[in-house]
Amino acid sequence: MSEITTQYAFYQAEQLSRDEIASLQTERLPQAVACALKSPWYAEQLAGLEAEQITSLEALRQIPFTTKEDLRSAMPFGFLAVPLDQVVRMHYSSGTTGTAIAIYHTAADLQHWAECVARGMLRVGVTRKDIFQNMMGYGLFTGGLGLHYPAELIGCLTIPAGAGNTSRQIEIMKTFGTTALHILPSYGLRLAHFCREAGVVPSRDLNLRFAFVGAEPHSPQTRARLEQALDLKAYNVYGLSEMCGPGVAIECSAQEGLHLREDHYLAEIVDPDSGQPLPDGEEGELVLTTLTREAMPLLRYRTRDITRLIPNSCSCGSQHRRIAPIVGRTDDMLIVRGTNVYPVQIERILMAIPETGSNYLITLATVDEMDEVTVSVEVSADYSYDDSRELQALRDRIRQELHTELLFRPQVELVEPGSLPVGEGKAVRVVDNRKK
Ligand code: ADP
Ligand code: ZN
Repeated sequence: MSEITTQYAFYQAEQLSRDEIASLQTERLPQAVACALKSPWYAEQLAGLEAEQITSLEALRQIPFTTKEDLRSAMPFGFLAVPLDQVVRMHYSSGTTGTAIAIYHTAADLQHWAECVARGMLRVGVTRKDIFQNMMGYGLFTGGLGLHYPAELIGCLTIPAGAGNTSRQIEIMKTFGTTALHILPSYGLRLAHFCREAGVVPSRDLNLRFAFVGAEPHSPQTRARLEQALDLKAYNVYGLSEMCGPGVAIECSAQEGLHLREDHYLAEIVDPDSGQPLPDGEEGELVLTTLTREAMPLLRYRTRDITRLIPNSCSCGSQHRRIAPIVGRTDDMLIVRGTNVYPVQIERILMAIPETGSNYLITLATVDEMDEVTVSVEVSADYSYDDSRELQALRDRIRQELHTELLFRPQVELVEPGSLPVGEGKAVRVVDNRKK
């Protein structure tokens, strides 16, 4: 047994072989279906279904998808599969898209969730000696508590700093020698900017080793900037409130995809339009089935998140399959002059250009009955421009690079550092003013 497994028995699940994962899934699937059938919604939708027959993915595929609209239509208690007195916590999905949905957890659900996240943190090298500063919002949003308990489970000194208040965040990092962060990638870039403004040099004045970044799509270029600016390694954490919150899949030190926790979640990738299953490696919509959830089991839940399963196994040794970083949600996809674009494609180009700053905004409008896209991007505070010709040259370069990627030519607007709007939560990247 490894040292980690001796200290943390739950870590054994990280060492399961492929066969062991498969047989656990076969064993747990009918139990998960039986559990789901205890909720009023599934009892009605799947009346007559024999849970014990559902022992494979093929069998599961007889069951229709569950969608966010289904969850909404059954608010507040339609998906609850246990008596309310067994529920110990609820969260709200943050309502980025539409009305919020309540998600329930039993004590066992919370335990599993914390263990899944702690496994991911341990896998990249977090130990009880780490000092963990959680800069995600606490409350109904799952980001804060979602990593808080796992950090405590590992034994880290856990600082519930919450979102915002950047000068206090920096002061805490300096005073307590914070080694690990949980942070929105968009906020991470702002934090790096503030550090620079405050004369704080992370490699000299801070002690950071890890950042767990997630809750919103971000490009590899943004990650690289964060790692460089804050002098740490950044690991992508994916999740959604409907499953539990952050921790459905977490990147390992290979940084080549996010390991699902397949003993708790069964993943499929489907064509977002037809709903047909896609082969491993093809990009489509992630569909998840909870294998161990008690309070609110979900079968074939359409996450609306676009990714692919990475077919081969990972150099870190984990046999849990990986997903590629999320490209965006199906509802974030912009259709501009017939071309499909995810905001993260634009981000990838912008963040690869050193002269750009940390924030950008995409505005869509209708001009002469045509879609017009304006990309506003802050310039980096590290560059000064002597004359407008230099700025014009930068603008043209960005426009050209975006054109090559997107196949249409957006307008580009360069703005002062810190001038684009920022909120405390997930970054808003798109304003769509097009005529409907
Ligand atoms: P809401 O759906 O209201 O935003 P959640 O806070 O549950 O509520 O957000 C979950 C969603 O956030 C996911 O479905 C996904 O779209 C996005 N998300 C979470 N983690 C990541 C990540 N690491 N990369 C990209 N997107 C992410
Ligand atoms: Zn790995």
